[in-house]
Amino acid sequence: MFKKVLIANRGEIALRVHRACQEMAIRTVAVHSTADATAMHVRLADESVCIGPPAARDSYLNVAAILSAASITGADAIHPGYGFLSENASFAEMVEAHGFAFIGPTAEHIRMMGDKIAAKDAMRRLGVPLVPGSDGALESLEEARAVAERIMYPVLIKAAAGGGGRGMKVAHSADELEEAWRVARTEAKAAFGNDAVYMEKYLDRPRHIELQVMADMHGNVVHFGERDCSLQRRHQKLVEEAGSPALTAAEREAIGAQVTQGLSKLGYRNAGTLEFLWQDGQFSFIEMNTRLQVEHPVTEMVCGVDLVKEQLRVAAGERLGYAQEDISFTGHAIECRITAEDPESFAPSPGRVNTYHAPGGLGVRVDSALYSGYAVPPHYDSLVAKLVVHGKSRAEAISRMRRALSEMVVDGIRTTLPLHQRIMEDPQFQSGDYTIHWLERFVGLRG
Ligand code: ADP
Repeated sequence: MFKKVLIANRGEIALRVHRACQEMAIRTVAVHSTADATAMHVRLADESVCIGPPAARDSYLNVAAILSAASITGADAIHPGYGFLSENASFAEMVEAHGFAFIGPTAEHIRMMGDKIAAKDAMRRLGVPLVPGSDGALESLEEARAVAERIMYPVLIKAAAGGGGRGMKVAHSADELEEAWRVARTEAKAAFGNDAVYMEKYLDRPRHIELQVMADMHGNVVHFGERDCSLQRRHQKLVEEAGSPALTAAEREAIGAQVTQGLSKLGYRNAGTLEFLWQDGQFSFIEMNTRLQVEHPVTEMVCGVDLVKEQLRVAAGERLGYAQEDISFTGHAIECRITAEDPESFAPSPGRVNTYHAPGGLGVRVDSALYSGYAVPPHYDSLVAKLVVHGKSRAEAISRMRRALSEMVVDGIRTTLPLHQRIMEDPQFQSGDYTIHWLERFVGLRG
């Protein structure tokens, strides 16, 4: 097993990785920007190295500084967390070229899944169901028109290099296609430096359901069931559940078997998530994330597994040591992403947190790097806490979440706590009957 792991990230996820390492008697190295010198991940880690100024491109994306930090501290592995360098194939390559283990998939698979067209190609070959669409990149507007006629409007133009919902445009009819084509390409070029786009049928009322997988280096692949991440605003997830209120155990088993067989053929290793749209009982693959996801705790709660420890174990070459039949699902878990944003306008609200009080009690988990007196810096993602609850049933999880939200205090900055309270109180959310469009309507309804 590794002796010392460098955590190439910040905030709650850096803490999350640190916690797994500590319990496995692995020493940790935190890296941080000058803006994060007093951050909790720096305070808790065994060692820390400042890797640059506040701007992420000069610190958390500064590959040379991170590799130097790993070298001078004698780390033997690097965990990238999520975001930043976690899905950068060249980074994974460089980490290994410098003699460190990369805690994640191979650079080849990161690269393949990072290009959504290549990812869909791979999944098609492996027999995983896809959203109907173009067979690859669209070469011209004429080709886009032809594909749209074939799969029928509405259609979605998506960036091959896409992420965070950017470079994605809907055309409801032929007269909207040219505009959608032009805007999607311009956005893709600006955001990713790559204007390759492809087309998918725009599903009008899908749920976003994703499957958590884990693979070792010996060809063993298992899945830890699904998460329902349909509650989104501008394609950003706000609330996640495990399991999905819409899925039966038989449906989970069927898609799980298809995916694990496919990934085993591919030789995939470490953690991964396959994202699907689910409508009318049909799964359609949209993308694969080759890293730990923000919402992984809901899976951990229902499966009783520590996904980061599993990542560390398989990255060190250990076998999974259990089979699919050994994985069971108990109760229901919900996560609320608490961000430093105005709960109505979603304007960022960084600044000093005067008082922070985390809720507790049975079945409550808080993953957060907050503390009283901490100043949330304006330079990074606005996520400040993940409030996760586990209950025997979905109804119990919802009442537990309402109770936990009411106990939580983040005073001094605005947060989305009041919005989460409203969602948990809503009868339609409580019924479990919602699609990816539900939350935007819910937020919009408030005059
Ligand atoms: P990104 O990588 O930018 O997050 P995804 O492909 O994961 O893009 O899609 C993000 C979200 O956009 C999905 O969760 C879903 O809400 C919506 N979406 C993506 N593809 C479609 C589609 N074909 N039809 C309807 N909604 C879609």
